This record gives sequence, structure tokens and C-alpha cells, in this order.
Amino acid sequence: MSENRILAGYEPASVLNFFEDICAIPHVSGDEKAIADYIENFARERGLSCYRDHVHNVFIKLPASAGHESAPAVMLQGHTDMVGEKTADSDHDFATDGLKLRVSEDGWISATDTTLGGDDGIAVAMMLAILDSPPEPHPAIECLFTVSEETGLEGAWAFDPKAAGATARTMINLDSEAEGVLTAGCSGGMRTDITVPVTCEPAEGVAVKITLDGFTGGHSGVEIHEGHTNAIKAMGRILSALTEPYDFSLISVSGGGKDNAIPRDCTVTLDLRDTAHTEDFARAVTVEAEKLRSEPNMIPADKTFTCTIEILPDAPVPAMDDKTTYAILSLLTLVRDGVLSMSAYVRGLVAHSRNLGIIQTLTDGEGKSNAVKFSMSTRSASGNHLDDSERELSALAAVLGGEATHRARYPGWDYAPVSPLRDLWTKVSEEIYGVTPRIEVIHAGLECGILCDKLGEMDIISVGPDMKDIHTPREMLSIPSVERTYRLVCETIRRLA
Ligand SMILES: [Zn+2]
Repeated sequence: MSENRILAGYEPASVLNFFEDICAIPHVSGDEKAIADYIENFARERGLSCYRDHVHNVFIKLPASAGHESAPAVMLQGHTDMVGEKTADSDHDFATDGLKLRVSEDGWISATDTTLGGDDGIAVAMMLAILDSPPEPHPAIECLFTVSEETGLEGAWAFDPKAAGATARTMINLDSEAEGVLTAGCSGGMRTDITVPVTCEPAEGVAVKITLDGFTGGHSGVEIHEGHTNAIKAMGRILSALTEPYDFSLISVSGGGKDNAIPRDCTVTLDLRDTAHTEDFARAVTVEAEKLRSEPNMIPADKTFTCTIEILPDAPVPAMDDKTTYAILSLLTLVRDGVLSMSAYVRGLVAHSRNLGIIQTLTDGEGKSNAVKFSMSTRSASGNHLDDSERELSALAAVLGGEATHRARYPGWDYAPVSPLRDLWTKVSEEIYGVTPRIEVIHAGLECGILCDKLGEMDIISVGPDMKDIHTPREMLSIPSVERTYRLVCETIRRLA
């Protein structure tokens, strides 16, 4: 090992040596060919059986130690791609440049001005170190290196276990970011778009624009139970309270930016036909917004949201007719959003949730509104829940003259009440470090869900060393935590023999 290797002298030397090699090879999502070449080359040099597919997933098999051939094989799995984020003033080119590593006094590795890709380069490094010098004795070990996890779990989707010759029924996924936590399940999900056709008529009154902004937003999976206000639903609530006293129709509506992020803003423009009561109407909007703000259930960070009301200068624009307005306002009220049900067997776990993430007014070539589109993401580990959600949303759309399309459905990994691997990892952790891992099930998608669905009955855990601020240029990976985690992985494999 040359002296200018930043990680030389740290333990576990073999893992960190492979990690430093990986950091020198550009490998952001979608650009995994070079790292796949490196891994394939590694297998060739050692005479290991290696399968590589068209998307550059790599699968390597190591036979069991002599005398342990009858022990069931174990699969190790991690993804080769990393998220490429850099500081605003960095000139780093993720397509060509290696990362500039550094180590803090207390043993955290980071990369100057960029993400580190500890997520999930450290899994790749651990797998290579194990294949290079496996714990003895060991069962047959199958290592799966997947691509493009960060951009849609695409490697896991493309992986063909039959073609690869995968046989293991036990899998350790190495894509978690907290030592002492064992992930034992994840949700599946799907995207739904509801489109409502728009019929227009000439506007008759005053155009009023209402904007709600400044909500905190958040992740539509892991933060869905934290009470963050959905700006689109909040707008629906205000408008539906005003339909009785006032006569108005919608001109346009838009809000949110991603179906998997809780929306932070929503804007509507409407045609207020009671032109004599414009001021009253504006006051009524404010009263409704303040009612929302005074909700005891609104989290403090959301209470600083803003509600702006503008009377637009008269311009003869077409407005949506009453039937369309009714359909849109009804959908805003009726699409169930947030936590739909809690798990019966994991305390505090959201089982089924939905996030109405985007609303858009679509226009034709001449800029005339022709449809309003609602985009949402529904999550659950249970396929039955997702089936229910499909039927619910299709029925709701049909009743209101719209149409629902469901796409990008992916399977979850349901918590298994019995898991010998989970028990073994717990026992090894208690024996070596006196630590009982915290078992978590997450309400977001992981590769494990797709792999579990493909491989059939699998006993899976997901673990990993401590990382901080992943997917940002502040990303850090703890060397002492890598050392402890690696020892647990090796000892668990040894006992599986
Ligand atoms: Zn990851």
C-alpha cells in the first residue's frame, strides 16, 4: 500500500483499502460501468465465479469452506452507485474525478466538497474484503452488487436471480446508516395520477389569487406520521369552507413539486362572481387560514405559513365551469392523505399512507386549461393495501368524471415474525459488544423489498455502520463503526457455517 493512501494505517485495513480504491473510481447513479469492471476484475484475479448483467449488476459466488458445503448459502448485498452532490463553489466533475478523502481526528471519513458515497461504497468494500479473505469457517457466500439504487432501485429491478444462479435464502443487506439498528422490513408503494378534464366558460367576476406557502414539507414516507401540513389539502379545506357563502369557480390551481415530498405550497386563482363582496371574501379566506393556524394539531414549524390574497386586474380569462370546479374541490377534500393505518404488530409503525404531492392545471397548445392532474404516492408493505388504494382512487376519480392511472408500483418487505438471521445478529451483537440492536421497520422503499419479492421466501436483515448527512457534501462515515460492524458481519457469517 503506498504511503499517500489517506486510509492507510486505519482498521479494518482490507475494507478501507477497497473503499479507498472505490472512491478513486467515478460511480454516481447511472455511471456504474467502471466500478463494475473493477469488481469483475477482482473476481477474475481470484478465480471466483462472476455474473454481470446488462445494467452492470455484478454477482460473485464464493464456495463454502471445506467441510461446510452443506450449510445454507448466505447472500451479502449493497449498491455500487452513489449520490453525487457537491458544494456550490466546487469544480468537481463526478464523471471523471476521484473523491478527495480526509479523516477527522475522531475517525470520520469525508470527501472534500462532495458526497463520500459511504452510502453504499462501504458495503461494496466490505463484500470485497470478505470475498478476499473470508471468515473461517464460512458457508457459500453470494455477493450481489446492484446499480442505481438511489434513482429508483433500478439494479434490484433488473436483477435476474435465476440467470445469476442465486441460491441463498438468507441475506444481509449492507445499506443501513446507523450502527446498533437492525432494519427488519420496509414499505412498498405506487404512484397514482388522477386527471380531471376541464370544461371552461368565460369568467364573469373578479380574479382572486390565493397562495399558501412556507409549510415545512418533508419525506412522504419516513415523515408522514409527524403531522406536517399538506399545503394542497390545506388549500382544499379553505376553499371548501367558502363554497357555501360565496359563488366562485376555479381558474387554475397548482401546488407541490414531487409526488413523494409533502407539498409546502399551493396557489389557486378563481373567478369570484360576487363582485360586490370581494373584500368580504378576502377576509373570509384570512379567517379560514387563521383557523388552520390555530389548530392545536398543527406542528409549530408549520404555524409560520403565509396566506396571500391578491385581487388581479380584470382580464377576460376563461374559468372552469361549475361541474369542473365541483369535481376539483371534491377531490381536494376526498383524497385521503397522510397516515391511513398503523401497523398491528410493530408499535408506532405506519402501515399504509398516502401523500397528495402535486396538483397541476394542464393546458393545451394555446394555453387554455384542459385538465387538472393530482399526483400522489401511496405506501404499504402489504400488497392488499396497495390493491385497496388502487380501487379506492379509481372509484373516486370515476365518480367525479376523472380517471386514475397507477404506475411505478414496487413491493414491500414485510416484517417477519420469525427470523433466525435477526436472532443470530442480535445474539452476536450482545455477545461481542453487549448491545441489543434496535429493530426498526421503515415506511420507505429499499432494495430488500424488490429482492425479497424476486427471490421468494427470504430471511433478510439490513445493517450498516454509522454515517451522517448522507446525500450531501457533508456526508461522513465512522471508521470505528465500520470496524465494529465488519466484525459483526464476519462473526455472523462464521456462525452460519
Ligand atoms: Zn444507500
